Amino acid sequence: MDFQLTDEQREMVATVRKLRQKVLAPNAIKWLNGDFPYASMKGLADIGVLGMAVPHEYGGMDASVLDTVLVLEEIGKACYATALAALGEIGVQARILSNYAPEHLKRKFLSKVADGTGILAICLTEPDAGTDVPNYKTNSQVVGDRVIVKGAKTLISRADIADVLIVFTRVNSVPGAAGIGCVLVEKGTPGLTAKASYHTMGGEYLCDVVFDSCEVPLDNLILRENSMKTLLNAFNAQRCLNAAVCLGLAEGALEEAIRYMRDRKAFGQSIGDFQGMRWKAADMYIEIEAARGLLYRAAVSGGKFPDRKLAAMAKIYCNEMAIRVTSEAVQVHGGYGYTDEFAVSRLFRGARFGSLGGGTTETLRNFVGQHLVKQMDLTTGISGLNAL
Ligand SMILES: Cc1cc2nc3c(=O)[nH]c(=O)nc-3n(C[C@H](O)[C@H](O)[C@H](O)COP(=O)(O)OP(=O)(O)OC[C@H]3O[C@@H](n4cnc5c(N)ncnc54)[C@H](O)[C@@H]3O)c2cc1C
Repeated sequence: MDFQLTDEQREMVATVRKLRQKVLAPNAIKWLNGDFPYASMKGLADIGVLGMAVPHEYGGMDASVLDTVLVLEEIGKACYATALAALGEIGVQARILSNYAPEHLKRKFLSKVADGTGILAICLTEPDAGTDVPNYKTNSQVVGDRVIVKGAKTLISRADIADVLIVFTRVNSVPGAAGIGCVLVEKGTPGLTAKASYHTMGGEYLCDVVFDSCEVPLDNLILRENSMKTLLNAFNAQRCLNAAVCLGLAEGALEEAIRYMRDRKAFGQSIGDFQGMRWKAADMYIEIEAARGLLYRAAVSGGKFPDRKLAAMAKIYCNEMAIRVTSEAVQVHGGYGYTDEFAVSRLFRGARFGSLGGGTTETLRNFVGQHLVKQMDLTTGISGLNAL
């Protein structure tokens, strides 16, 4: 087992670190009001990050899942809003477009994703069903060479400013999981409305989206009915990327906590000289390193789409670890840690998103537990890396 990063990976992380220190961290507080972090995204586009999920022929980097994890981790250390905005461009929506869309749609949109001028949104959640994908009501009806999309989505990131919406949809009213496919709806399509309705504790707005008989070309139906498995596959990469943001938030919080432990004095000494504080630092670090091991292993477990159970386990652990670690970092800061002005407060609020988006921890636990109970070999048990 080789746990070393390559020289190229170190260089890439160092480039993002410079941007983090110069642009992302100093601006992070600005995005609490819900503004989209265009300035940070421009910096990321300039160094090629926004093209990480775009193939070379469309101007992207076609980066591995691990490379993308490393970059999101670095961004997450400084700014939750920028990490989520970047995730929107290098996450599942770009992967669906890059891997499954017809050639002319890839040509039309992917180079814009890479240069930061094409904003993507992914629309799954509906007012009456989020986790419960088989009960989604949004439907795409094929009529000749056109598709009529009808339905509503909610809690959607960036939909109000997105150029392209990748929409999970029922196709031709086929019921249940078997009916689920995916359709692309462009900004400006008659019948499409997207309104920023909910302000979140992380700072960003989430949108209500309505498709009031939106008519799109048949080619926009990127995946027809019976595509649930394919779509969920694309989500295995997303789970690692969501986890990477959480790992970064936790690392950023620990770094802030250590800084504060050195600077802050109480009872005539640095608070970092108290054993109670040092144990907190040690526990935070142990949790981060355990999470990193699980996440990096998941990230390299498949080509474009990592192993489903490793990705699920990494996401669960990183999501919950980030809540614990960022919360402890707030504690280390005393009352200042609760204020917007201190980064730990923003990192803590951001960390709460992880276990909700991209597959809740409950449903992922259902899957991991079910797999374990059904698949464990009773002779060999759980031993080594490939036991399950
Ligand atoms: C910051 C943020 C950004 C988001 N961005 C997007 C986006 O861009 N696009 C998008 O489509 N959605 C987005 N969402 C919505 C998110 O994907 C959903 O909130 C999530 O999928 C859960 O759906 P729900 O809210 O309808 O909860 P529900 O599905 O109603 O679940 C409620 C609770 O019940 C639990 N539960 C449900 N089923 C089971 C089960 N079988 N076993 C055990 N427990 C269960 C869930 O885990 C959860 O705790 C975003 C959410 C957040 C917080």
